[in-house]
Amino acid sequence: MVNENRRCGMCSKPIPAHKVQFARRVEQMEVVEKDGKQFKSMNVFANDVFMEFCSHTCWAGRELEVIAAYELKATYPAFQWVASCSRCGAPVNRTKPYVTLNIYEAIDESKPWVNVERMLDDKELAVLCPMCDAPAEAKSEQIVNELADLEPNQTT
Ligand SMILES: [Zn+2]
Ligand SMILES: [Zn+2]
Repeated sequence: MVNENRRCGMCSKPIPAHKVQFARRVEQMEVVEKDGKQFKSMNVFANDVFMEFCSHTCWAGRELEVIAAYELKATYPAFQWVASCSRCGAPVNRTKPYVTLNIYEAIDESKPWVNVERMLDDKELAVLCPMCDAPAEAKSEQIVNELADLEPNQTT
């Protein structure tokens, strides 16, 4: 479904159903046990889309500008339970609510009776410490709860 009111943040074409979105997210990680195995679980409290693009090519055209606007010194951090803030380098404890900037593909699979968006290829552009970007009070409602295999080398 093409929405004529939503335009690509680079080329201004209407946003297609399969699009690239840039969003600020508030999330928190935890370790959960299921069937005797440990998984890391991501709770997403908020996902605010700031910009939409028709393609990765258009995102690539804006990427450096976005990195400069957010004053990011480091981008695309590898997962660590205590990450380094992409702006100031301060530690970010992922077991408490924190802010990330993400770029991902989303496919609009909405039906007339329900709005559904499937996220693909989710990439973390930046992690921000509470001094750089304070997560608002975490809402009790969790909109996403993802389970991923917890690899032994990621527990430290
Ligand atoms: Zn575009
Ligand atoms: Zn910071």
